[in-house]
Amino acid sequence: MTQIKRNVLLNPGPATTTDSVKLAQVVPDICPREEEFVGVMREVEAGLLKVVHADPVKYAAVLFCGSGTINIDVCLNSLLPEGKKVLVVNNGAYSSRAVEVCTYYGMPHIDLKLPIDRPADIEEIRRTLEADRDIAIVYITHNETGTGVLNPIREIGALAHEQGAVFIVDTTSTYAIRPIDIEADNVDFLMASAQKGIMAMTGLSYVIGNRSLIEKSREYPKRSYYCNLYMQYEYAIEHGEMHFTPPVQVIYAARQGLKEYFEEGETAKWDRHFRVFNALYDGLEELGFRMFVKREDCAGLVVAALYPDDDNWDFKRIHDHCYDRGFTIYPGKVEKRGMFRLCSLGAIDLSDIEAFFEVFKEALNVCGVSVPVAYKE
Ligand SMILES: *Cc1c(COP(=O)(O)O)cnc(C)c1O
Repeated sequence: MTQIKRNVLLNPGPATTTDSVKLAQVVPDICPREEEFVGVMREVEAGLLKVVHADPVKYAAVLFCGSGTINIDVCLNSLLPEGKKVLVVNNGAYSSRAVEVCTYYGMPHIDLKLPIDRPADIEEIRRTLEADRDIAIVYITHNETGTGVLNPIREIGALAHEQGAVFIVDTTSTYAIRPIDIEADNVDFLMASAQKGIMAMTGLSYVIGNRSLIEKSREYPKRSYYCNLYMQYEYAIEHGEMHFTPPVQVIYAARQGLKEYFEEGETAKWDRHFRVFNALYDGLEELGFRMFVKREDCAGLVVAALYPDDDNWDFKRIHDHCYDRGFTIYPGKVEKRGMFRLCSLGAIDLSDIEAFFEVFKEALNVCGVSVPVAYKE
């Protein structure tokens, strides 16, 4: 077997994968219309449902070829009835993306802007819902990957349902990481992408949703040709495959990723990600870094640290030093403040984080950044 260099990706996806997942893509050439491949698709769909404890009679996994944003587009453009509105609970960059989707399609929507450094306030959402009877969709992001904030989806889902609205959650950065039970969490539609929680390859994304609601959406205005949820769903039921060419090899990798997910186990996997998150948070705190979000408000996946006020701080140089040694860190800007992110996604564990901090400290030292790092106020 060829040796593949192992990189530790601390960026918010794609994540570090196992070699067995990488190599699962190397398969004999196959036409995706063959029954053998349809069988692989079925396995992947069944596994995707099982991750969120979804009853296959009630819920369906609908696959798309594209990065995670395709799901946001699909869910919003496909699930809004004529004359109704979307309520986007917006406390971060990914929810802002949903607002942009609504804007691009010219769909009526409310952009409920909330503070981005803490979980969404349920009472604000309640007031907004009660004041507008035309809201048919409540949309939120589970873990705002830009900051790491966790939103209380179970409570917000209950509220949406009380008001007769459909609840759509962007779970791209929590699915197959933080345990989710689609029904108990009051979710009608959730979404994810193969390069995140299931630690597979980019290019495959999926929406998991309530079948009867998908079937109802058949009558809704069609706003996109390629990205229509009902069309893709119906085609999969009739033919067992995606409407257009699927990312064949990526689907083999996803099947392997799911296999390894169930081998590791929901709880053990989440425990691992969470201990990595805590090690990242602790390690940065020890160096004096200030975090943008309090630990208890985080989803346990992303640590966003503010750039220190030090003339020698040079993110690019620090990044390059780490990158050359196999560790990828990620910049980000929120509310005009410079910050960087370290994430606990992927096939990594504590030993990787220990090794990372050795390299990171060395980088600070090489750049002449004083430790503990300092802030002006
Ligand atoms: C990664 C991610 C996406 C998808 O982003 P792409 O760049 O399109 O893959 C969507 N939502 C959240 C919350 C994410 O973390």
